[in-house]
Amino acid sequence: MGNLANVLIFTDMDGTLLDHHDYSFAPAIQTLEKLKNLHIPVIPNTSKTRAELMQLREALKLDGAFIVENGAAAYLPIDSLPKQPEDTELYGEFWCKAFSPPRTRWLKLLKAAETKFSGQFRYFATMTIEELMQSTGLNAESAKLAAQREFGEPIEWLGTSQQKHEFIEYLMGQGANPVEGGRYIHLVGECNKGAAMKWLKNQYHQQCPERTWQTIALGDGKNDIAMLEAADVAIRILSPTNSLPVIHHSEHLITSSLYGPSGWAECLERLLFNA
Ligand SMILES: [Mg+2]
Repeated sequence: MGNLANVLIFTDMDGTLLDHHDYSFAPAIQTLEKLKNLHIPVIPNTSKTRAELMQLREALKLDGAFIVENGAAAYLPIDSLPKQPEDTELYGEFWCKAFSPPRTRWLKLLKAAETKFSGQFRYFATMTIEELMQSTGLNAESAKLAAQREFGEPIEWLGTSQQKHEFIEYLMGQGANPVEGGRYIHLVGECNKGAAMKWLKNQYHQQCPERTWQTIALGDGKNDIAMLEAADVAIRILSPTNSLPVIHHSEHLITSSLYGPSGWAECLERLLFNA
């Protein structure tokens, strides 16, 4: 790695910096501290909501920019920048750049679909916290934070697979972009973690054009592929549950030998500190 002062680290959360099973990041704490002392930004790039991430940032002692809901929006602390980045809106103590229409767009669409596909689906906005806990496996507090979506809407399918096919066709006909995940069908705009990362890197470039920023991205899943392929260094983190994401092109590809946060620390220590 070249000059460490020009490094930006973009990282997935679940299964990457956080343990897949118990969400612990203990094996990565020492490395996180080293990066903080060197002022190397660690930028979460996650499918989680802003509400979920606000809590996590505190636990991780991260106070910089972050990307939520699979690339739907980037948030930059206003006090970290000399001027407002273009095309952003003020949101509390952050500049927010949205890459997706707001959630309300999808909720209207789903409301309208309820007659045609009656009883065949339910979605987060229509579920109680108890139903959300049962559907997601989260505890009450986490389910409440996960419910506070701003851009996308997860849909739980209850009908047959033929009906699901018709439902997806119907949504596409309405101009939506349904993405089938493991557990849910996600309605979001055409955004991904890679495009949001590129936009954020460009903001660093605009603020400090004399520096040659280098991106390192870490992820363990399919929704990390666009981010890993767009990074200068791609680090794939071994998962106990899913196979490694398939990367078609990469400047520099590294694969961890350990799972989750242990693999996260293992790869960054070797890459940045020759450990
Ligand atoms: Mg993950």
